Amino acid sequence: QPHERVDIALGERSYPILIGPHLLEDDELLSEHIAARNLLIVTNETIAPLYLRPLQTALKQQRTAAVVLPDGEQYKTLDTLSRIFDALVSERMNRDAAVVALGGGVIGDMAGFAAACYQRGIDYIQVPTTLLAQVDSSVGGKTAVNHPSAKNMIGAFHQPRCVIADTATLHTLPEREFAAGIAEIVKYGLIYDPAFFVWLEEHAEALLKRLDSAVIYAVRRSCEIKAEVVGIDEREHGLRAILNLGHTFGHAIETASGYGNWLHGEAVAAGMVMAADLSERLGWLPGADKQRAIALLKRFNLPVDPPRIGAERARELMGLDKKVLDGKLRLVLLRSLGKADVVSDYSGEAFAATMRTHF
Ligand code: NAD
Ligand code: ZN
Repeated sequence: QPHERVDIALGERSYPILIGPHLLEDDELLSEHIAARNLLIVTNETIAPLYLRPLQTALKQQRTAAVVLPDGEQYKTLDTLSRIFDALVSERMNRDAAVVALGGGVIGDMAGFAAACYQRGIDYIQVPTTLLAQVDSSVGGKTAVNHPSAKNMIGAFHQPRCVIADTATLHTLPEREFAAGIAEIVKYGLIYDPAFFVWLEEHAEALLKRLDSAVIYAVRRSCEIKAEVVGIDEREHGLRAILNLGHTFGHAIETASGYGNWLHGEAVAAGMVMAADLSERLGWLPGADKQRAIALLKRFNLPVDPPRIGAERARELMGLDKKVLDGKLRLVLLRSLGKADVVSDYSGEAFAATMRTHF
């Protein structure tokens, strides 16, 4: 299959992201990029009936075993993780075995963390099947499970050997999940690449129809931007924080509405509108540019208004966010369409006005 390739260089290691349709059925490509002879495929009950058999068939050169987990963020726990360890042990997987994550971000995060821990670290390969996983969670090497008190509290940095983003799998993705992934794609344009933002405006229809060429380009450009940002700042001190545009406001939305009522990407979309609003109040972003961002998100059927939870409540929820340093709320704001900055010295009055207007 023809495909695109983005190389991620982190420290001394580098690995490819391969992007294109039907890659998980491409036995030649898989054997070229997956060296391990013994593989444990980690997937869930929704994805297994769709893609497990084709993947196992294509991996005919290897010995594969599979563990099929229940579907849902609520299962991204230590309990579920131990089921992956049980499978690794009972299938007699050794240090030279690898874990294959077949699924969305939940599966990728858990399978990656299992690989980071098992026998002090074995290889893993990401086969992301959601748009969000293809453009975000499978890139950057963050792995984790949730603690009952907070998301992603227990985790590790562990880079995959390669990422195989089969864009044909996106055709079975529910519309809301697809749109939630687009929110993160719009984010990349907003924080880093004005030309990509314009490309998204011009190709919104094609993307909504999930046309191969549009989807492949959007995934590739998103991975390039994330790779660039993460590569410059692998352990999250400065630049990497711009990836959190809309996420602090979004975190309040997700928490207030209960996980699952608002998809992560939906909350980020409304959160980015709030960030744009505050940027406008600070005199950085022209009102017309804020409107362009809102219009683009709306075209993708993403929500642009948060639920009315009240500014006080929202403030509390944002205060609990782990992105807060020294009690000072650092926010990612827009200097222009395509350029973001992390700031903590914005006026409290402007911030209060954004909170009052939206929450
Ligand atoms: P998800 O993994 O829950 O997938 C969403 C839903 O789509 C699930 O029901 C899943 O079973 C289903 N699904 C997956 N692929 C499908 C397909 N091809 N066809 C039909 N249905 C399919 O959610 P997500 O949005 O992919 O990922 C969210 C998770 O990612 C969160 O846990 C979040 O913390 C994590 N995340 C991690 C990072 C990181 O850097 N590691 C970054 C962003 C998000
Ligand atoms: Zn996100």
